[in-house]
This record gives sequence, C-alpha cells and structure tokens, in this order.
Amino acid sequence: MKNICLLAIAIVLLSLPAAAQNVERLQVDAADAPRNVLHATLTIPVAPGPLTLVYPKWLPGNHRPTGPIQNFTGLHFKAAGKELEWQRDLEDMWAFHLQVPAGVNELQATYDTITYNGKSSLASSKVLDLVWNQVVLYPQGAASNDVRVSASVRLPEGWKFGTALTPAQQSGNSVEFQTVSLTTLVDSPLIAGAIYRQVQISPPGEPLTHVVDMVGESEEAIQITDKDIASLKQLVAETGKLFGARHYTKYHFLLILGDQTAHHGLEHHESSDNGTDEDMFSNPGVHDLEADLLPHEFVHSWNGKYKRPAGLATRDYQAPMHGDLLWVYEGLTDYLGNILAARTGLRSPDQFHENLAYTAAMLDHRAGRTWRPLQDTATSVQSLFAAATEWTNWRRSADYYPEGYLIWLEVDSLIRQKTNGQKSLNDFCRLFYGGQSGPPQVVPYKFEDVAAALNQVTPNDWAKLLRERLDSKSPHAPMGGITTGGWKLVYTDQKNSTMDAREKSSNNIDLSFSLGFIATKEGELRDVIPGSPAYAAGLGAGMKVIAVNGRKWSKDVIRAALRGGMHSQQPISLLAENGEYYKTYDVNYHEGERYPHLVRVEGQANILDEIIKPSF
Ligand SMILES: [Zn+2]
Repeated sequence: MKNICLLAIAIVLLSLPAAAQNVERLQVDAADAPRNVLHATLTIPVAPGPLTLVYPKWLPGNHRPTGPIQNFTGLHFKAAGKELEWQRDLEDMWAFHLQVPAGVNELQATYDTITYNGKSSLASSKVLDLVWNQVVLYPQGAASNDVRVSASVRLPEGWKFGTALTPAQQSGNSVEFQTVSLTTLVDSPLIAGAIYRQVQISPPGEPLTHVVDMVGESEEAIQITDKDIASLKQLVAETGKLFGARHYTKYHFLLILGDQTAHHGLEHHESSDNGTDEDMFSNPGVHDLEADLLPHEFVHSWNGKYKRPAGLATRDYQAPMHGDLLWVYEGLTDYLGNILAARTGLRSPDQFHENLAYTAAMLDHRAGRTWRPLQDTATSVQSLFAAATEWTNWRRSADYYPEGYLIWLEVDSLIRQKTNGQKSLNDFCRLFYGGQSGPPQVVPYKFEDVAAALNQVTPNDWAKLLRERLDSKSPHAPMGGITTGGWKLVYTDQKNSTMDAREKSSNNIDLSFSLGFIATKEGELRDVIPGSPAYAAGLGAGMKVIAVNGRKWSKDVIRAALRGGMHSQQPISLLAENGEYYKTYDVNYHEGERYPHLVRVEGQANILDEIIKPSF
C-alpha cells in the first residue's frame, strides 16, 4: 500500500488494542510439502535486550514432550536487516537465546521444519497435514492464550484445504487466516491435498456446521459411502443427546486417506486431525478397525478439550503435563468412541462384541499387570510411547485406553443395574461434560470431581471402586462390565473377526491366547507373553522363528501345527534364530487354536446390547 502518510499509520497503531500490536506474523510456505520440508518466516514484535524464544515442546493430545525439535532446521534470525546470532539453551533443547539490539522492535525468524518420518510422515506428493506447533516460535514465559498469531500458508499448486481456522483472504494458492491466539492456532491444524472433498454431516435441525474434510492419495480413497455419511450424521445427533451441549462453534473432521502419511487421530476443540488407510471406505476389515476413530476424536471435544484433567491444562507448551487422569481423558473416550461406533452403525453389534472380546482377552493376558497397575501406565505416558514393540506385554503399553474402556463399561453397567435402567453413564456425560453451549473453553477437573459427579448420578463408593481398578495388580482384567452386562468371555478355535482384520491389516499373526506370542508373517517374534507356553519354552521377543516341526515357518504352517498338536503328545518344535545363533525350542502346548468371543449368559439382563442401542 502506497501514499499513506506516517501520521495516519501512527493513528491506526495507537487506536489498535495493545494486544493487536503484539501479533506474530507467521507465513508458512508449504510448496515443498511433497518432499516433506516446510519453510516458514515468523515476524515477532520484540524489545531490545535479552530474548528467549521457544519451540512448542509439550503437545496437547500427545501429553508428552514430543515437539519435534530434531526436525527444526535452517534457523536464522534477522533484525533491521542484520543477522542475529542465537544460542540454544544448554539444558532445554527447545529454547533459543538472543540479544535484541537497541532500537529494534521487530525480529524476523526464518526456518524449515522437516516432516519426513517414513510411514509417519506428515506429507506426501498428494497430501499435507500441517500442524502449526511444528512451525512456530514464541517468547518464553508467554501464555499461549496471550500470544496472537496472524498465520498464512502457501500451498502447492492446485491443492485445496480444510481447517477450523477462518480464512481472512485467499488468492491463488495462498490463504491468510484471521488472527487467533497461539492456543487456537495450535488447536486448529490444516490438511491439504490435490484430491479434496468436503461433506456436510449436520443432521436436520442441528444449527452448527459439521463437515468432513477429506484429502486422499486417490479419488477412490475419498469416496465415502452414503451409509457412512448417514452414520456420521447420526454421530452428530447422538453426541448432542449424550452431552446436551456443544463447546465449539463449528466442527471439522479432517481426514487424510493414504498409506504414505501418519495413521493417527489427534483431538482438538473444533476439529480433529485423522489419518487412516487409503482403502478405509472400501475395505470392510479396515473399516471395522477404524470405525471408532472419528467418534473417538469427536468425543474428545468434550472429554479432553473442554473438560480437561488439571495436570494437562497447562498455560503454555513448555510446562510439563501430568498424565495421571488419562484413564478418564482417553479411557472414557475409548469407551464412548466404541459404543458410539455401534450406536451409529459404523460398527455392527457383532463387530462390537468381537472387538470388545479381543480387548478384554488381550488385557486378561497382560503379564505386566502383576507389577504395573493401570494407574502407572497413565502416569508414565511420557515414556511409554518411546518403547519398542518387543516385550509390550511385560512392559505394558498405553493400557489406560483399552482398560479404561473396560472400567467405564463396568461403571455404566453398574449404574444401569443399580437404577433398573433408569440411569446410565449417559447421565454422567450430560452432567459432567454438558453445561452451556458456546465457543471453546477449558474447564479443569480432578479425580474427586469425577467421583462426585458419578455419585450425583447414582450414590455409590465410586472413588473406592475406581481406585481399586486403577491400583490393582491382579493378573486378571476387570470383566465386571461384561458380566454385569449379561455376557461372558469364552475362547474357541473360531477366529475373532477383529483379530482377523488386524492380521490382514498388519500382517502379524496373534497367537497370544494359545502359544502366547505375536509374530510377523516372516516369523519375527514381536512379543512373547511371560507365563505362556512359548515363554516357558525359552522363546523371547526379538527372536525369529525359522521352522515349525522341521517345516519352514509360515502363518499356515504354525496354525496347522497348533491343530495337529491337539492329537499328539509331542511338543511343538520351533527352530528360532536369535542374532547369529539358532536353537530349537520345544513348546508343550496341545489345546489348538484359541480366539476370544463374547457369549450371552442366558437369564441375565442384556445390558451390553442396551448400551449400544441407537438413541434415535
Ligand atoms: Zn484419544
């Protein structure tokens, strides 16, 4: 803009609120996204003197110090056209120290972020998942609510995008968004791609906008079925009834369908960032496995974003987080995501039963539960995800998800049983997560608040029951929800459909409930369960089975050996490679193939199926 006198500019500046003068301007050039490099320029208002800028370290939804500082590259600072030297903090790898010269009130930082991470990359030739925390710096000590950011992005030629951010202006491949707080920016990722489609999923009568923004590696990938669209509309309706309020002004399901980028789900207030298989809409097995992905992330808008454990409600991205209440944040979301998948038809009742049977059986065979209570899996979230797959069973994993599911199923079943079906966990959800609809806000809570709200629904010593479940070192998983629900867990030689879908999807074979191990199709032992027949024979995770009873390993050969072993006194002989050594391990097992299923207990009320009935 030309020909504006300086006085006019001064008047404009003086008339702006103080905060507006402290806006960071972030320009992201994503034109190089296909080779997984993002370029960024950040202009920050500063004052002369020492300055420390930080890169977000503790990420909401991750609950861990996973801000990818190792991928933050090409860093330069300039002030008044001159290069400024920077020094990284000796202890905090996410902090950069600078000296701002006298007379300088604005600093320009330029840098790149590498988004390549093999199959977990954030971009490919066709799609991009832009998470703003990876391309931003802010002053150390500033609360993320107080930092204002005016962000813009330039996308590869012809790409379209989806985000909960509101565009201010758009021209060609560039879009500038309305200025928001750093909190909102980090909470509002953007997906983009050459192949894009948006589908409206607000049911009739719902005033707020709900959409699915899809980008995919192929046109076929984004062909969502009419049945799934109907289910997602039902999901919006079901959550409205379940919670009784919405804590957002619009909601975007951002969905990347591709196998070259990360498969994940990350929750936000007004959107969720989801990545799944390219064939999710067309492959029934993958569809079954992923059926609770969108319901799960959507539930987080209430459970996790609006209501948040006090230890996770931090004022910036550098403060450590406490994961102790993740069995509510993730466990209850896992439960609600799974029952909503069934209530909305994303998963059939049979698929729901099979999925629950697998979850319960897996946890009931977790040897690590004898030393590590569920509570500790939540408390140690910071370290768990860094672990290798091998020995997961003994180490335990993020079990607060699936075991939280079992615990909340038990709570729901008990409320229904105690009140003769008059009350349910739905009442707790409405009470705890409802309130007044409106724009995003965070309401922190503690353990005592959860127990108090449950008591308001149905008087009981909920605090005691929850603590017993959380602190237990019992070798067995909590099955109270299944048994109170009128079902029981059994094992037969018939394949479990969830496990079958997992096997096809991962190529692993899961023999946890027979020999006691999980192996790749090549025979590499991913896990061996302590106490199982395979463990007793001396096998361990990290070894590779070469032959079964003298015959070359394959999934079919090991399954045939299991069946044959039922008619033989001889152990199953496994030749395994352990580094440079070979050894034969004799596994004394004769019970054939075993897979978990749920069966009805006749004469008992079928509470479980009552729980998954649609509300409409
Ligand atoms: Zn989650």
